[in-house]
Amino acid sequence: LIAMSIDSPYKSTILSEFEKKVLDNLVAEGFLKISKRGYVLPTRKGRIYLRERENIRGIGDVVEIIANGKRIGYRELPQAIKELFPGAIYLHGGKIYISLGIRGKKAYVKPIPHKMPPVSTSPLYYTVPEDEKTLDRGIVNGIPIEYIELKITDIVYGYVVKSFPSGETIRQQLLEKELSYGFKTKGILIYMPPRADWNEIQNAEAFHAIEHALISAAQMVIGAAPTDMGGISFPSGHIYIYDAFPGGSGLSKLLFEKLEKAMDKAYDIVSRCTCEDGCPRCIFSPYCGNNNQILSRRKAEKVLGEILTLKIRYKAEHRFGKPLV
Ligand SMILES: [Zn+2]
Ligand SMILES: [Zn+2]
Repeated sequence: LIAMSIDSPYKSTILSEFEKKVLDNLVAEGFLKISKRGYVLPTRKGRIYLRERENIRGIGDVVEIIANGKRIGYRELPQAIKELFPGAIYLHGGKIYISLGIRGKKAYVKPIPHKMPPVSTSPLYYTVPEDEKTLDRGIVNGIPIEYIELKITDIVYGYVVKSFPSGETIRQQLLEKELSYGFKTKGILIYMPPRADWNEIQNAEAFHAIEHALISAAQMVIGAAPTDMGGISFPSGHIYIYDAFPGGSGLSKLLFEKLEKAMDKAYDIVSRCTCEDGCPRCIFSPYCGNNNQILSRRKAEKVLGEILTLKIRYKAEHRFGKPLV
């Protein structure tokens, strides 16, 4: 928001509800001010802050949203590539747009008439984590955990068209060209034991479901919002839960300290549902990069149940397999 205000003045009316809350805080802390005509402007403190942060890669990167040659708003990265890929349906200021694609730091969108069949789109993507530095270590229920600095690369390769509001999948579409964005952040790495009597897909189903459940549990345990944290799971039992905002937000540090409680909550989520093997009430997530495929509530219940009751000390092994988000 500070970077945007230096780039060109804007009014708070173009911001999302969350951004408005952040704006209020930045004004209260003296990083931004509001002019008499309602424009958001940087203060001296804000400019100094930004200059000091500029060398950190990925912070403050925003995409301008252009409709009919006019800028209608901004979207920060990495969210922009997940919401404005070519073909994306994008809601902004009460209007419906379709994205024509992102070039450089600009996303081009076209308004579509309200009469269009009501559909929504969600991105198909995967995320590659690169561990950079271990900041802290621990053991929870026998499971090794680390608080780490890491590089996250999101790769959007397609999207799902869903009927709105029922959310039923109509079709899947691959992008001609993948979109990717990399940034540094902080997160937790959890080393869970893969089961020797399950194949790679079965283990992937379990850990992907545990990853979703842990992100839901984080909302209850530390008060995180659904999009504050991202997650990646591997069939080798490696689970990453990280701050979704470039540079980190401090939430994963809080979660690192309360992981025992979060694992209990995650077990409640996967064990208390009465569905067949996963549903929107337990492990399905609207932010899943796989359209909630390769997820098994029952396998997650089995793995977490054994960890919580047996508390066997597990020794971390090498990571392998395809990342699921
Ligand atoms: Zn369920
Ligand atoms: Zn997922």
